[in-house]
Amino acid sequence: MSQRTLVLLKPDAVRRGLVGEILGRIEKKAGWTISALELRQLDREVLEQHYAEHVGKPFYEPLVEFMASAPAVALVVEGERVIEGVRALAGPTDPIAAAPGSIRGDFGTIVRENLIHASDSEESAEREIKIFFPGLA
Ligand code: GDP
Ligand code: MG
Repeated sequence: MSQRTLVLLKPDAVRRGLVGEILGRIEKKAGWTISALELRQLDREVLEQHYAEHVGKPFYEPLVEFMASAPAVALVVEGERVIEGVRALAGPTDPIAAAPGSIRGDFGTIVRENLIHASDSEESAEREIKIFFPGLA
Protein backbone atom coordinates (compact mmCIF):
# COMPACT_ATOMS: atom_id res chain seq x y z
CA MET A 1 0.00 0.00 0.00
CA SER A 2 1.97 3.02 -1.23
CA GLN A 3 1.23 6.21 0.67
CA ARG A 4 2.73 9.63 1.20
CA THR A 5 3.30 11.55 4.39
CA LEU A 6 4.32 15.03 5.49
CA VAL A 7 7.37 15.17 7.73
CA LEU A 8 8.84 18.17 9.55
CA LEU A 9 12.30 18.16 11.06
CA LYS A 10 11.64 20.65 13.83
CA PRO A 11 13.90 23.63 14.63
CA ASP A 12 15.70 21.68 17.37
CA ALA A 13 16.75 19.03 14.82
CA VAL A 14 18.10 21.69 12.45
CA ARG A 15 19.81 23.68 15.22
CA ARG A 16 21.47 20.55 16.62
CA GLY A 17 22.76 19.32 13.27
CA LEU A 18 20.58 16.20 13.24
CA VAL A 19 19.03 16.67 9.80
CA GLY A 20 21.41 14.29 8.04
CA GLU A 21 21.04 11.64 10.75
CA ILE A 22 17.24 11.74 10.66
CA LEU A 23 16.94 11.95 6.87
CA GLY A 24 19.37 9.03 6.66
CA ARG A 25 17.09 6.82 8.73
CA ILE A 26 14.15 7.67 6.48
CA GLU A 27 16.15 7.24 3.27
CA LYS A 28 17.44 3.82 4.30
CA LYS A 29 13.97 2.27 4.58
CA ALA A 30 13.58 0.05 1.52
CA GLY A 31 11.59 1.58 -1.28
CA TRP A 32 10.79 4.90 0.39
CA THR A 33 11.42 8.05 -1.63
CA ILE A 34 11.73 11.69 -0.62
CA SER A 35 9.63 13.51 -3.22
CA ALA A 36 9.85 17.08 -1.88
CA LEU A 37 12.23 18.72 0.59
CA GLU A 38 12.79 22.29 1.73
CA LEU A 39 14.51 24.19 4.53
CA ARG A 40 11.95 26.74 5.58
CA GLN A 41 11.21 29.35 8.22
CA LEU A 42 7.66 28.54 9.35
CA ASP A 43 5.31 31.41 10.18
CA ARG A 44 2.33 31.53 12.55
CA GLU A 45 -0.19 31.33 9.72
CA VAL A 46 1.16 28.05 8.39
CA LEU A 47 1.59 26.65 11.91
CA GLU A 48 -1.97 27.56 12.88
CA GLN A 49 -3.26 25.55 9.91
CA HIS A 50 -0.87 22.70 10.55
CA TYR A 51 -1.65 22.43 14.27
CA ALA A 52 -5.36 23.34 13.98
CA GLU A 53 -6.37 20.33 16.12
CA HIS A 54 -4.29 21.69 19.02
CA VAL A 55 -5.47 25.33 19.04
CA GLY A 56 -6.49 26.27 22.60
CA LYS A 57 -4.55 23.50 24.35
CA PRO A 58 -2.08 24.61 27.03
CA PHE A 59 0.95 23.53 24.96
CA TYR A 60 -0.25 25.21 21.75
CA GLU A 61 1.24 28.73 22.12
CA PRO A 62 4.71 27.61 23.25
CA LEU A 63 4.65 24.97 20.51
CA VAL A 64 3.97 27.56 17.79
CA GLU A 65 6.60 29.88 19.25
CA PHE A 66 9.16 27.08 19.20
CA MET A 67 8.24 25.94 15.69
CA ALA A 68 8.65 29.52 14.40
CA SER A 69 11.89 30.15 16.32
CA ALA A 70 14.28 28.94 13.60
CA PRO A 71 14.16 27.18 10.24
CA ALA A 72 12.67 23.69 9.94
CA VAL A 73 12.90 21.12 7.16
CA ALA A 74 9.65 20.11 5.46
CA LEU A 75 9.53 17.00 3.31
CA VAL A 76 7.18 14.56 1.66
CA VAL A 77 8.05 10.88 1.81
CA GLU A 78 6.37 8.26 -0.36
CA GLY A 79 6.34 4.49 -0.10
CA GLU A 80 4.96 1.35 1.42
CA ARG A 81 3.01 2.08 4.65
CA VAL A 82 5.05 5.23 5.08
CA ILE A 83 2.53 6.95 7.38
CA GLU A 84 2.73 4.26 10.07
CA GLY A 85 6.39 3.70 9.25
CA VAL A 86 7.68 7.23 9.86
CA ARG A 87 5.61 7.43 13.07
CA ALA A 88 7.35 4.21 14.16
CA LEU A 89 10.80 5.61 13.33
CA ALA A 90 9.92 8.78 15.29
CA GLY A 91 8.59 7.07 18.41
CA PRO A 92 5.90 8.39 20.75
CA THR A 93 5.44 12.11 21.49
CA ASP A 94 7.32 12.09 24.82
CA PRO A 95 10.99 11.44 24.03
CA ILE A 96 11.70 10.05 27.50
CA ALA A 97 9.00 7.41 26.98
CA ALA A 98 10.21 6.73 23.43
CA ALA A 99 12.30 3.59 23.02
CA PRO A 100 16.02 3.86 22.29
CA GLY A 101 16.43 3.24 18.57
CA SER A 102 13.64 5.65 17.69
CA ILE A 103 14.49 9.21 16.64
CA ARG A 104 12.81 10.79 19.65
CA GLY A 105 14.13 8.07 21.97
CA ASP A 106 17.70 8.49 20.77
CA PHE A 107 17.93 12.28 20.65
CA GLY A 108 15.15 13.95 22.65
CA THR A 109 14.36 14.81 26.27
CA ILE A 110 11.72 17.57 26.05
CA VAL A 111 8.15 16.85 24.91
CA ARG A 112 7.85 20.02 22.84
CA GLU A 113 11.32 19.72 21.29
CA ASN A 114 10.86 16.20 20.03
CA LEU A 115 12.68 16.67 16.72
CA ILE A 116 10.15 15.43 14.19
CA HIS A 117 6.54 15.68 13.05
CA ALA A 118 4.95 12.98 10.90
CA SER A 119 1.35 12.82 9.66
CA ASP A 120 -0.83 10.45 11.68
CA SER A 121 -3.32 9.28 9.00
CA GLU A 122 -3.99 9.43 5.26
CA GLU A 123 -6.42 12.31 5.82
CA SER A 124 -3.85 14.26 7.87
CA ALA A 125 -1.15 13.54 5.29
CA GLU A 126 -3.16 14.94 2.38
CA ARG A 127 -4.25 17.98 4.43
CA GLU A 128 -0.70 18.70 5.62
CA ILE A 129 0.94 18.16 2.22
CA LYS A 130 -1.44 20.81 0.80
CA ILE A 131 -0.33 23.26 3.50
CA PHE A 132 3.41 22.83 2.95
CA PHE A 133 3.60 21.87 -0.73
CA PRO A 134 0.46 23.23 -2.40
CA GLY A 135 2.04 22.74 -5.83
CA LEU A 136 2.44 18.99 -5.35
CA ALA A 137 -0.13 16.97 -7.28
P1 GDP B 1 2.75 14.04 17.72
O1 GDP B 1 1.71 13.65 16.70
O2 GDP B 1 3.44 12.85 18.34
O3 GDP B 1 3.75 15.04 17.20
O4 GDP B 1 2.00 14.72 18.96
P2 GDP B 1 0.69 15.67 19.01
O5 GDP B 1 0.04 15.80 17.67
O6 GDP B 1 -0.15 15.19 20.15
O7 GDP B 1 1.28 17.07 19.46
C1 GDP B 1 1.94 17.91 18.54
C2 GDP B 1 3.22 18.41 19.17
O8 GDP B 1 2.89 19.24 20.29
C3 GDP B 1 4.11 17.33 19.77
O9 GDP B 1 4.96 16.71 18.82
C4 GDP B 1 4.91 18.12 20.78
O10 GDP B 1 5.93 18.88 20.14
C5 GDP B 1 3.85 19.07 21.31
N1 GDP B 1 3.14 18.52 22.47
C6 GDP B 1 2.16 17.59 22.49
N2 GDP B 1 1.71 17.32 23.71
C7 GDP B 1 2.42 18.13 24.53
C8 GDP B 1 2.45 18.33 25.94
O11 GDP B 1 1.71 17.72 26.70
N3 GDP B 1 3.33 19.25 26.41
C9 GDP B 1 4.16 19.95 25.59
N4 GDP B 1 5.00 20.84 26.12
N5 GDP B 1 4.18 19.78 24.25
C10 GDP B 1 3.33 18.89 23.73
MG1 MG C 1 0.22 14.87 15.84
